[in-house]
Amino acid sequence: MKTLKCTSWFCLCLIGLMSLVSQHGLAQRPVYLDAGHGGIPPDPEADPGTVTVLNPYNEKDINLAVALKVKALLDMANIPYIMSRQTDTGVPVIRRAFQADSANCTTFVSIHHNSSNPGYQ
Ligand SMILES: [Zn+2]
Repeated sequence: MKTLKCTSWFCLCLIGLMSLVSQHGLAQRPVYLDAGHGGIPPDPEADPGTVTVLNPYNEKDINLAVALKVKALLDMANIPYIMSRQTDTGVPVIRRAFQADSANCTTFVSIHHNSSNPGYQ
């Protein structure tokens, strides 16, 4: 059941991306696919993202896992893309923006899974 839910979610994600790309007539321009955060200390750019008591995983790892699944869907749909990272590396935010601009990307998808600890206001 869990796999079915994930498959449905990813299909919706792909349909949304394809719709966005086709609506703007940007099919030849790559989508910039940003797996938020990343990197392992002592990398100065290392940023694990959100980690809470409710979610023992680093946000960076979840973001990368989802980005790699979206990448596979983009490959299947023959939609060009550029990824901010495909491994656990730190990429400065300004470099991500520069890469997207340099490649003439007009669609920027940044994947995050933010959360907070209970009791925080
Ligand atoms: Zn985040």
